[in-house]
Amino acid sequence: MTKAQIVSGRMARIQPSRKENDMLAMQYRGPYRVRATHKAEPQIEHPNDAIIRVTRSCICGSDLHLYHGLVPDTRIGHTFGHEFTGIVEEVGSSVQSLKKGDHVLVPFNIFCGSCFFCRKELFSNCHNVNPEATAVGGIFGYSHTTGGYDGGQAEFVRVPMADVGPLILPPDLDVDDAVLLTDACPTGYHAAEMGDIAEGDTVVVFGAGPVGLFAAKSAWLMGAGRVIVVDQLEYRLEFAKKFAQCEVVNFREVGDMAIHIKKMTDWLGADVCIDAVGCEAAGNAMQYLTGVKLKMQAGSATVLHWAINSARKGGKISVVGVYGPTFNAVPIGNLVNKGLTLRGNQAAVKRHLPRLIEHIQAGRLKPSEVITHRIPLEDVADAYHIFSSKLDNCIKPVLIPPAARQYEAARTTAAQATESSQSQSQSQVH
Ligand code: NAD
Ligand code: ZN
Repeated sequence: MTKAQIVSGRMARIQPSRKENDMLAMQYRGPYRVRATHKAEPQIEHPNDAIIRVTRSCICGSDLHLYHGLVPDTRIGHTFGHEFTGIVEEVGSSVQSLKKGDHVLVPFNIFCGSCFFCRKELFSNCHNVNPEATAVGGIFGYSHTTGGYDGGQAEFVRVPMADVGPLILPPDLDVDDAVLLTDACPTGYHAAEMGDIAEGDTVVVFGAGPVGLFAAKSAWLMGAGRVIVVDQLEYRLEFAKKFAQCEVVNFREVGDMAIHIKKMTDWLGADVCIDAVGCEAAGNAMQYLTGVKLKMQAGSATVLHWAINSARKGGKISVVGVYGPTFNAVPIGNLVNKGLTLRGNQAAVKRHLPRLIEHIQAGRLKPSEVITHRIPLEDVADAYHIFSSKLDNCIKPVLIPPAARQYEAARTTAAQATESSQSQSQSQVH
């Protein structure tokens, strides 16, 4: 390695203009403006911190709410990114379960593992990690409303509570599958679980983004008899049909959504409705105007209306789509009169990992199938634009930092060298 490739014992750095101990990171500059620039590398701040060298970092639909300027207290210079894998670079003095060199996936929730809520495995509701709010726990790279922690769309990230959150990748788990296990896949699974699906149930999933796709797939794993996915983007509905073997509805092509679902279900309604869209839902001009444009409510409540009105009496509504913290105009009277059960949460990622890894190992699930774009971290502005505007049939973009690309290239070269020396020695034996 040349001197430029080794700075303070770490992997290669690019861009000679950076100062020593600077790293490349996505930074927020204001609504619809993000860029990859240099900022100081994170340091260990607490004995239970770890510093992780990022190998993969996805952009999530949740990041789009930040990107669109809809999340309060999103500060200039904040680095987003709550879905990442990486190699442990350094650990604080009290960390016992990780060591330098471990390749880990890091759930998007930051949680202590020992408070009242964590003991109930409500990891997204941890009481000890978010000094800025009580409703939600800590989340990497998700504004100061979730603690102000910088995220993983960077070369390095500080991981607090390092003994609790990260999981060392099992040797047979592909890193592209692993990065989807930090949020989108377990969130879809969590959504299906909150729907309390009974064998044979009809499940309607609103939203054919990564979260909705995994909710649809999980619905089958939990015994659904029929799965219907609703969106407006034809390319995503086509993808959903293949990925989740479901029926699809393009809401732009139907009149009243609830009546359409009733027609499809012998006029009973769906047993379970899942909201995998959240506060930026399209489909109702007044909701969009008051919720997204004028911010008179905490996002458009269109999918909440559709879910409540499309569910059968006694049915269940599961909400993982993200909404703001104030209020939304929802038809609560219909929910009461129909006897519906309403549940919602940020996913408790770590709780689902053992089961999801089993599903992957058994071949029932291949999360990386949703990855459509691999984009260098340097081009993060393009990545946000493509994902936000749903260009180029984008489902899920993954950012790859320069050091990770060089690390992988070095590993491939080393593996090829080993393979060729083994085949040479074998040919000498025979
Ligand atoms: P995404 O932006 O890729 O997908 C959202 C999809 O919803 C798009 O395909 C869009 O066309 C569709 N849509 C818009 N209006 C709709 C409507 N009225 N009916 C049906 N579909 C509609 O986002 P994603 O990554 O799949 O995330 C989806 C939601 O889940 C976001 O709100 C995100 O913040 C949230 N999320 C929650 C958690 C959690 O733990 N609760 C975790 C991750 C993401
Ligand atoms: Zn996410």
